[in-house]
Amino acid sequence: MAEFTMELNDEQKEVRDWLHGFAADVIRPAAAEWDEREETPWPVIQEAAKVGIYSLDFYAQQYFDPTGLGIPMAMEELFWGDAGIALSIVGTGLAAVGVLANGTEEQIGTWIPQMYGDQNDVKVAAFCSSEPDAGSDVASLRTRAVYDEAKDEWVINGTKTWATNGGIANVHVVVASVDPEVGSKGHASFIVPPGTPGLSQGQKFKKHGIRASHTAEVVLDNVRVPGSCLLGGKEKLDERLARAREKAKAAGGDRVKNAAMATFEASRPAVGAMAVGTARAAYEVALDYARTREQFGRPIIDNQGVAFQLADMRTQIDAARLLVWRASWMAVNGKPFTAAEGSMSKLFASETAKKVTAQAIQILGGNGYTREYPVERMHRDSAIYTIFEGTSEIQRLVIARTLAGMPIR
Ligand SMILES: Cc1cc2nc3c(=O)[nH]c(=O)nc-3n(C[C@H](O)[C@H](O)[C@H](O)COP(=O)(O)OP(=O)(O)OC[C@H]3O[C@@H](n4cnc5c(N)ncnc54)[C@H](O)[C@@H]3O)c2cc1C
Repeated sequence: MAEFTMELNDEQKEVRDWLHGFAADVIRPAAAEWDEREETPWPVIQEAAKVGIYSLDFYAQQYFDPTGLGIPMAMEELFWGDAGIALSIVGTGLAAVGVLANGTEEQIGTWIPQMYGDQNDVKVAAFCSSEPDAGSDVASLRTRAVYDEAKDEWVINGTKTWATNGGIANVHVVVASVDPEVGSKGHASFIVPPGTPGLSQGQKFKKHGIRASHTAEVVLDNVRVPGSCLLGGKEKLDERLARAREKAKAAGGDRVKNAAMATFEASRPAVGAMAVGTARAAYEVALDYARTREQFGRPIIDNQGVAFQLADMRTQIDAARLLVWRASWMAVNGKPFTAAEGSMSKLFASETAKKVTAQAIQILGGNGYTREYPVERMHRDSAIYTIFEGTSEIQRLVIARTLAGMPIR
């Protein structure tokens, strides 16, 4: 087990500086354009692929870093550049992690390369769990997957919503119920390969922020995938279902409650790190502005009312980063989240980003309110962090139930 450290090692510092350079030189200058266009920034993703940032190798290297700091450091730097573009770059990684975590070696080897494509023909992937009637309450999802034994195929029907890269992805990872009687224990994830008939994009959403990231509905109409597309394989699923049915029987036939929320603990710090990146970006713009903007014959930072805001902003950003790093270290080293530390980190960092970006607008005055300066976009972008991967209310619910020793449902 790696000791918890607040210092990046030399290798991590090198990676951080390299990512920062890409974020500053490639992502940030493109941010305003792709925010206005509300389209996936394919040329930027391609550029990221060329230098090795958009690749499984890079993502896996950070993901398996034993200090736990690889992913939060990478997320913070990329999202410092721009949240919408960065989400377009890391969105595939989120789907790939689903395959890495649950797939067989063969599935990992077959599908992850197809999620990324290659640097001359980049592809993206989508992770589709949320549905119109199953957002926070993921256990209630209705998409069904039924096994057709004669053909060794799964038939999937349902509608997914809010899918990042939904409909434009080469590979979709779809969560569906194979046995509604056992609630979330009856959920399974499926690969939907490129060009599978029956999968189509529903409406593409026009959003408040992260507009360079594509978000859409995904409709699954009698989508047939081979048996080999069930992540983890049928044997493992059958064993899991047998255990869940046994438990449900023992509980008097009650639906097995959703324990899936608990598994988010390990992935939530990464979203916290994205929020830290956006917050830090807005803080830096505000600090720079406060030092140079003069009113009443002196820089506005000479006013305590402005300087104290900056002091609070920086304090909260640093506190958020520490919570994120702690939770990431715990996740990588298999420490139990006895106080829902993953949710804590995401809750605090996402709320901090919303607050800090609003303060940045205030410090820039009229300029802050315009699209001539980036803090307006950063504030719009930051609103997503308190919503996806579990809203702030859900984080509080998870933390409170964990502290109380109550089941998370
Ligand atoms: C831009 C964007 C990208 C996304 N990307 C993906 C993706 O790639 N894949 C995917 O599967 N999903 C994705 N999501 C979905 C996201 O995870 C959900 O939006 C989120 O989980 C909230 O679900 P909901 O929108 O249905 O809100 P609801 O669950 O309907 O919640 C509405 C409000 O009620 C509150 N609430 C609900 N239940 C409780 C409770 N028990 N106690 C207190 N308050 C409660 C919530 O906190 C919220 O304020 C994305 C969403 C967005 C906006």
